[in-house]
Amino acid sequence: MFEKILIANRGEIALRVIRAAREMGIRSVAVHSTADADAMHVRMADESVCIGPPPSSESYLSIPAIIAACEVTGAQAIHPGYGFLSENANFVQIVEDHGLTFIGPSAEHIRIMGDKITAKDTMKALNVPCVPGSDGGVPDVAEARRLGETIGYPVIIKATAGGGGRGMKVARNAGEIERAFLTARSEAKAAFGNDEVYIEKYLSTPRHIEIQVFGDGKGHAVHLGERDCSLQRRHQKVLEEAPGPTITAEERARIGKVCADACASIRYRGAGTIEFLYENGAFYFIEMNTRLQVEHPVTEAIFGVDLVHEQIRVAEGLPMSFTQDDLVINGHAIEVRITAEKLPDFSPRPGRITQFHAPGGLGVRMDSALYDGYKIPPYYDSLIAKLIVHGPDRRAALARLNRALGELIVDGVDTTLPLFDALLQEEDIQQGTYNIHWLENWLESNLRE
Ligand code: ADP
Repeated sequence: MFEKILIANRGEIALRVIRAAREMGIRSVAVHSTADADAMHVRMADESVCIGPPPSSESYLSIPAIIAACEVTGAQAIHPGYGFLSENANFVQIVEDHGLTFIGPSAEHIRIMGDKITAKDTMKALNVPCVPGSDGGVPDVAEARRLGETIGYPVIIKATAGGGGRGMKVARNAGEIERAFLTARSEAKAAFGNDEVYIEKYLSTPRHIEIQVFGDGKGHAVHLGERDCSLQRRHQKVLEEAPGPTITAEERARIGKVCADACASIRYRGAGTIEFLYENGAFYFIEMNTRLQVEHPVTEAIFGVDLVHEQIRVAEGLPMSFTQDDLVINGHAIEVRITAEKLPDFSPRPGRITQFHAPGGLGVRMDSALYDGYKIPPYYDSLIAKLIVHGPDRRAALARLNRALGELIVDGVDTTLPLFDALLQEEDIQQGTYNIHWLENWLESNLRE
């Protein structure tokens, strides 16, 4: 059993891991930049180590500083949270080379899934349905043009090393392919230092459905159903729910089994998410995230499990505490991501929180590192709180979300809270009839200045 783990992250996800560790009787070590000396994760952990100046490249992404913090404090394992070093295979290798445990999948699995072409090839070989597209990277415009004709327009050009919705360009017809290809390539080069791109059929009105998987690293794996994360702005998720409003029990069982079997056969360890676009009853794999997701709490709510406990268990070599048969869905859960941004343009608004009051009551979970008087630093992600509600069915969850939003107070900075109040009034949100373009269209017509 680990006695002490280090959390290589900040904000709400660092608190999330500290809480799980404490429940398991494990001591926690927080790391922080000088900008985060007063942050909640530093206050809540058993110990803390300052690892560098504000820019994440010199602190939260500094591998030597994090390894040194483990050595100084005697932490035996590292939980990476999400973002930062969570999907950095090189980091995992270094952690293991230092005799420490990485709470997450193997470096090899992170490497395979981090390259979208290798990921797609691997999934295809494991019988996971994929979006029709190029076999691997597309070298030049001529090949892109040829593929456009064979696949059929519209097509999307995506960066092999992509992430965070960047480096993607849609070509609606042959006239647009050259420009889209060249722009995607130069954006990919600028954002990821790798200009390789690939081409996929562009699905016009899909939903984003992702399957939560969990493996013990020894050949056992389960799925924990799906999350619908179709409400996106600039390919970034804004609201997530589980189960998906349009997914039937048969579809869930079928795609869930495909995903669990794929993870079992590669001996995947820990939490993972297999992302699909879903259109006309068919699932198309787009990518796998080899870490805990921001939206994991909706899955925890409906299955009554603690995914971080499980991550720590399997990292220690213990079996998972559930089998597929134990995992039964109870009710419906919705998460909203509240950011310190000003509407309508979502410009970041760091600053001092003058008043913070979290909602409570049955079925309400607030994952946030805010407190009264906290000063949000300008250096990091603008996510300040995740509000998760759980109810016996979707209607009840929506009513609870409405009630909880009414109780929540965040004063001192602009936030995206008014967006959620407005969304809850919408018929399409109430009915669950939305796809990946719905929010952009809605913002376009409702939030114009
Ligand atoms: P990233 O790693 O940058 O998040 P993804 O491959 O996960 O990239 O895609 C992010 C989002 O981009 C998806 O949720 C979807 O909204 C859109 N997208 C990606 N591929 C396609 C496609 N083939 N057709 C339509 N939309 C797509």
